[in-house]
Amino acid sequence: MRSKINIVWLKRDLRLQDHEPLYKAQQENIPFILLYIYEPSLITDPHYDQRHWRFIQESLEDIQAELQKNKNNLSIAYGESVDVFAKLSKLFDIQYVFSHEETGLDVTFKRDKNVAIYFKSQNIIWIECQSNAVIRGLQDRKTWDRAWARFMRDQIIKINMDHLNIISVDLGGVNIPLFERDDNFQKGGMTEVQATLDDFFSIRGQDYYKFISKPHRSRSSCSRMSAYIAYGNISIRQIYQKILENWNRAGWRRSMAALSSRIHWHCHFIQKFESECRIENETINAGYQNFPYLIEDEEHADFNSWVNGNTGFPLIDASMRALKHSGYINFRSRAMVVSFACHYLRIHWKLVAKALARLFLDFEPGIHYSQIQMQAGVTGINTIRIYNPKKQAIDHDPEAIFIKTWIPELSSHQPEYVINLPLQSNDLFATQSNYPQAKYNFQERIRESKDLLWQWKKSIHVKQNNAKILAKHVRPQ
Ligand SMILES: Cc1cc2nc3c(=O)[nH]c(=O)nc-3n(C[C@H](O)[C@H](O)[C@H](O)COP(=O)(O)OP(=O)(O)OC[C@H]3O[C@@H](n4cnc5c(N)ncnc54)[C@H](O)[C@@H]3O)c2cc1C
Repeated sequence: MRSKINIVWLKRDLRLQDHEPLYKAQQENIPFILLYIYEPSLITDPHYDQRHWRFIQESLEDIQAELQKNKNNLSIAYGESVDVFAKLSKLFDIQYVFSHEETGLDVTFKRDKNVAIYFKSQNIIWIECQSNAVIRGLQDRKTWDRAWARFMRDQIIKINMDHLNIISVDLGGVNIPLFERDDNFQKGGMTEVQATLDDFFSIRGQDYYKFISKPHRSRSSCSRMSAYIAYGNISIRQIYQKILENWNRAGWRRSMAALSSRIHWHCHFIQKFESECRIENETINAGYQNFPYLIEDEEHADFNSWVNGNTGFPLIDASMRALKHSGYINFRSRAMVVSFACHYLRIHWKLVAKALARLFLDFEPGIHYSQIQMQAGVTGINTIRIYNPKKQAIDHDPEAIFIKTWIPELSSHQPEYVINLPLQSNDLFATQSNYPQAKYNFQERIRESKDLLWQWKKSIHVKQNNAKILAKHVRPQ
């Protein structure tokens, strides 16, 4: 006879504290399997890259090390979820599956629907717990802010590691390719996030608000929590409560207020995606669906020069190279590289979204798609903002420290020269360095894009859709 068990299905919640599914499984009086499934359909999805799977692997290794302290084990499977659950069903009489709700891509949304059908056919009850402060089935934002505050201030769920009735099962997880550590990227796991958090709240965080827009300084003064939040090595509530602890610390208020707003935005954008996940494939404002782009395939030379950091615009190229190398750039740089790709090179926002998803170690579908569409200027409700990389360099990297760090070809040039590239006439420069020249005139290209964007923003179709977006995603005044 198959023995009765429950399952805790880990997804983007790779931690052992403030974990409701784990807590619920602990309350039951039968053993449970703590399961992670590496899914081929996700591994091959164009939003993902080896850097993400390495981070996940490191997070799982950390969980395993923690479990081992009490002689418990994580179970790891490789396969499509329905197949893995079907295999488990042959071995065990599964009662409940506990997981967090996932606000994910189309591929995980479809997978969840299939899994739900399978569970129903097997009389397995699937309990999905709320993720972050994101509410499933929300119709408008009237009460959302209050619910957000309640969630964030609620007690952190304590898991007693001495009383986990875990059983493990060999599911052939050994077939998963193992990734070598790469020190250029943040390492995944609860241990690492704790160290990053401690470090931020002991020293780095005090100047957070001052350097948030600086491409170089932000790398150490920003919290650097994003990848850990995206894969759930820490809960957003744990971070928020840490902010509250530091709220009255002398000299820290401005930084804590700025960080608190961003923690709020985190859930705001994921909520938007939860309520409107079609924005992975369509513009949130249907009026922009056929907006004319020049580049719609990744083979195009301009796409390649952008993604590899060879456009001739130093701050753009430094940002893209930093991203490729480390998986991280700050918010302003992200907005700027999207603006450049969509407005100067006129690459389709969907191509830009996927390429950056593969590069951002912290890829989080809800934040990512909402932000890409805002920066691409296809929401209708946001101000059209086009970044000038030269001005950004003058304002935020005047000594060209960031640029020279990532573009060795420019390291021996004077900062004034570097930040003013591309020059009006590139003749002089061309003889001095093997750094590429800009292909198009920036002002001309941007003028064309601005004209187009304003023309579309004023169209009836765009205006009609604005009202729908405001009603659904924006809190009433
Ligand atoms: C085009 C574009 C795409 C982006 N894609 C992602 C993404 O895939 N994943 C991701 O986590 N962030 C994304 N961001 C938001 C932001 O740039 C990053 O969260 C931030 O740079 C991460 O660094 P940090 O952890 O040091 O941030 P901090 O400034 O220290 O902020 C702390 C946390 O707040 C949240 N946060 C910060 N800024 C924002 C924001 N503008 N919107 C929503 N949440 C925010 C993040 O969870 C972040 O870790 C994107 C921004 C842009 C412009």
